[in-house]
Amino acid sequence: MSERKTAIITGSTSGIGLGIAEAFAASGMNIMLNGFGDAAEIEAIRAGLAESGDGDVAYHGADMSKPEEIADLVEATRATFGQVDVIVPNAGIQVVSPVEDFPPEKWDLLFKINLFSAFHLTRLVFAEMKARRWGRIINLVSAHGLVASPFKSAYVAAKHGQVGFTKTIALEGAEFGVTCNAICPGYVLTPLVEKQIPDTAQARGITEEQVKRDVLLAAQPTKNFVTVEQIGALAVFLCSDAAAQITGAALPVDGGWTAQ
Ligand code: NAD
Repeated sequence: MSERKTAIITGSTSGIGLGIAEAFAASGMNIMLNGFGDAAEIEAIRAGLAESGDGDVAYHGADMSKPEEIADLVEATRATFGQVDVIVPNAGIQVVSPVEDFPPEKWDLLFKINLFSAFHLTRLVFAEMKARRWGRIINLVSAHGLVASPFKSAYVAAKHGQVGFTKTIALEGAEFGVTCNAICPGYVLTPLVEKQIPDTAQARGITEEQVKRDVLLAAQPTKNFVTVEQIGALAVFLCSDAAAQITGAALPVDGGWTAQ
């Protein structure tokens, strides 16, 4: 990357998004953080990131289920940094339930946050990226964008949808220097995963330890959780000139899960 780039990372107050923010800050980018949480804790994260890199770091609390707030996030980023070069639609929630009991309002909310927000963010920055003939769109998807697990119908459907969206945007950006890829992690031990352990235990009638060993890592042949640092390093690489010909890819980082 030649000049300083500016990235919006949604859901970057925690977990994978925060890991990507740390990696982007270390690589010298400006960052617009987003996500929920305690205001003082978020300010401590923002200040720590600004300290750690050469770029500036700002925060916007847009709710990814609300298109008008996503538009406000993009406008605030332009007002603060001048332009948007990289977007990482990463914010996501999980809902674990047998399909017959799946609350319809939770299905709708999951789609808004996990899939529709990626569309809104992309549509709002795409013309700008094409005009400058450089852009990077990195959708945080999941191994569940490639394969399924029971009791996660909304999540698996939304993540498969995000892979299709990634391929389409890759084709629309291909001649304009704008790449679009999907990172598909296996299990990363973040708050999102920790929160679903009790529900999975209940849905399957097993203990929480059994969920970790026999359900989560059972799918991952390496028997290790993926780390947020590993995802952050891949995201930085996808922003580099070396990755200019990688587009429309769904890249598994899953310890061999989807090789099976
Ligand atoms: P996390 O719960 O640690 O973090 C989620 C982030 O999204 C938080 O910052 C939260 O505040 C934010 N968020 C939630 N709802 C939001 C909303 N409506 N508007 C704005 N921000 C919102 O989760 P994570 O594990 O870091 O997951 C991040 C992404 O990675 C998700 O898309 C998830 O599906 C995906 N993923 C996670 C794993 C894993 O094992 N943890 C594996 C594959 C994919």
